Amino acid sequence: MKQKLPLLILAVFVVGALAVGLVSTFHGTNEPVETDFFAMDTLMGVQVYSRNADADGYAVQTCIGALEKELSVTIETSEIAQLNRDGHAVLTGDVQALLQRTIALSARTGGALDPTMYSIVRLWGFTTGSYRVPDGDEIAAALETVGTAHITLGENGDTALLGGAQIDFGAVAKGYAAQQSADLLAARGVTAAILSLGGNVQTVGSRPDGNDWVIGIRDPADEAQMIGKLSVSGSAAIVTSGGYQRYFEENGVTYQHIMDPATGAPVKSGLSSVTIVAQDGFLADGLSTALYVMGLDKATAFWRDSDDFEAVLITDDGDAYVTEGLAGRYVCADGFTVVTR
Ligand code: AMP
Ligand code: MG
Repeated sequence: MKQKLPLLILAVFVVGALAVGLVSTFHGTNEPVETDFFAMDTLMGVQVYSRNADADGYAVQTCIGALEKELSVTIETSEIAQLNRDGHAVLTGDVQALLQRTIALSARTGGALDPTMYSIVRLWGFTTGSYRVPDGDEIAAALETVGTAHITLGENGDTALLGGAQIDFGAVAKGYAAQQSADLLAARGVTAAILSLGGNVQTVGSRPDGNDWVIGIRDPADEAQMIGKLSVSGSAAIVTSGGYQRYFEENGVTYQHIMDPATGAPVKSGLSSVTIVAQDGFLADGLSTALYVMGLDKATAFWRDSDDFEAVLITDDGDAYVTEGLAGRYVCADGFTVVTR
């Protein structure tokens, strides 16, 4: 089914789109207070509608800063960096929860999401920014340490033995942090907020003016533009993965940061971005990466077998495929195909 919308509507929302990827149409007197900060290698923004909005925004910044210290592979003292260095560790709190949940989601996605891709991600220089194209032997050697079968978790998930594997939470950490932040705001009594952590948007409660939250979806072919917009009511996670979010070029070839566990090279799945809408930030983040790896056919089949998320899939040609739960909530200028069950 193709749906066409007048160009005028496109013009209105593109002009209104904020740089952080949020589209704000709030006209009431209860203006949100925005807190911006840099964490997890990304510019983050939190808009809170509350009397203590400054303190609430600062609480989110503190929460994400603390999580980054535990979860970043590049912070030497982090629990995850120590695990990678020693090959074994006693795990606590967030690292324990995140590793267990990521291994489970890896199994559910048939290994499309794989937390042991770190050896490959590092080989291509995506961790340090020292980008390079590795040769086939290097990729083959690194691939030998890829796969969650290498990891042995203790009975309660409180210890891990890596068996040569290296772990990276790059595909899920921001979603996990966004969910923790949303839970924190709700616990502080906040009834309306929207967080934008790079490609991860998380809404808390409902807008005071009664309107839906509106989230712009970037055009993978031109990051400065929006290709569509999604409206969401209530609390939700809206997470986009795309090759355009991090890449390098060498000899006229573009190499992007989402890796195919089958080849150890950047994924060429025919998709240029995947946006997931789900109730949980971790789930939305993990699935956005996994469905990007799967490509359109496998991703839509996976959606048909699931009941806990909806998706907007943009192909390399710029065509949009929208799962039916979002069909009435997605707006774009060029029309889209509704994916049905
Ligand atoms: P995202 O932006 O959420 O899609 O996550 C992409 C990041 O996750 C990359 O920058 C890598 O750090 C890591 N990564 C790349 N490929 C994979 C994969 N197939 N499974 C899990 N993590 C990956
Ligand atoms: Mg992700």
